[in-house]
Amino acid sequence: MSIEPDSDPTESWNQLADETSSQDTSSCIDLFSEIDHAPPAMDASDKIPREREESLCPCKSRESYATCCMPYHYGRAKPESAEQLMRSRYSAYFFRLIDYLVDTTHPDSREPDLRAHFESTIHKVNWSFLNILGTSKGGKGDKVGKVEFVAKYFVENEAQELHECSRFKRFKGAWKYLDHKG
Ligand SMILES: [Zn+2]
Repeated sequence: MSIEPDSDPTESWNQLADETSSQDTSSCIDLFSEIDHAPPAMDASDKIPREREESLCPCKSRESYATCCMPYHYGRAKPESAEQLMRSRYSAYFFRLIDYLVDTTHPDSREPDLRAHFESTIHKVNWSFLNILGTSKGGKGDKVGKVEFVAKYFVENEAQELHECSRFKRFKGAWKYLDHKG
């Protein structure tokens, strides 16, 4: 997800699906080995007030943050679907968790200046609303997935709206954000 319309992918969805369908089948093992070796502490714990945990999650799931996106932000669990990852990335934008946003960007899309990009832009944007419009694939048995959503935000008190279709792809078993259209 980006507020800049600069990365319109040229690769079609079908091409992506074809590419990924022949990949190795060891992704489940990779996923478990990643969980066994818990990732280093994210930057969540020192940025989110404890009392925030029982409040509703910023991703508008109507669940508490503690039972929705927090376990992903703290590295205690991994999203099982592309939509869960999408929601957790929206919440990470909301809380400005740059480590999480970098970590959940697919290595194929992780530009060298990605972290610097977040550091220079993330504090200028205040996210206010998320509505998931639809999903395609992105489930337990899938290696790719799409999520279409509308997100609302403010930049310098000016209301903006983002309507985007994000693509997600597994890497070592874990869902990662690949790119977007719209
Ligand atoms: Zn959430």
